[in-house]
Amino acid sequence: MDMPKYIKTLCNGCGKLFNKVLALRDNFIDTDNTCWTCQQTLSAMNAKNLAKKLELPALTGTDKQLNWGEPVRIKIVNELLVRLQDYWDEGLQFKTAKKILLHILARPNFVRASFWIEHRNNEYGLKNYILKLATEELKKSNHLQLMSSSI
Ligand SMILES: [Zn+2]
Repeated sequence: MDMPKYIKTLCNGCGKLFNKVLALRDNFIDTDNTCWTCQQTLSAMNAKNLAKKLELPALTGTDKQLNWGEPVRIKIVNELLVRLQDYWDEGLQFKTAKKILLHILARPNFVRASFWIEHRNNEYGLKNYILKLATEELKKSNHLQLMSSSI
């Protein structure tokens, strides 16, 4: 059976018509009616709010870089935090690990939005790299036993 690949749809965000891609995911059709531009804006906004909530250091760069880099950073940091939470169920230990993570993310290369954009296609490597730095910090501070080396 042939299905149309695009359908003209009104965007919920800006109210303009856009060509919505019909993507079949897990046997249901994605019905999110938001155009690409609005999705980008929304994702940047959500990422910025979340970064504030997590008390991440502010990124530096042009507006365009910030809108692109922040969602990349937030996705990786989120996954690292979830992983840390799984690994350490004790609140205090998680708090320490989170503190170390945030401390590392305040390093100059990590606050450049362009850093996250450049490495966006290597999430796995980036996560391992950050975990490695965190493990070194932990060893230095002698707070806890070793962190799992891979994620
Ligand atoms: Zn829109």
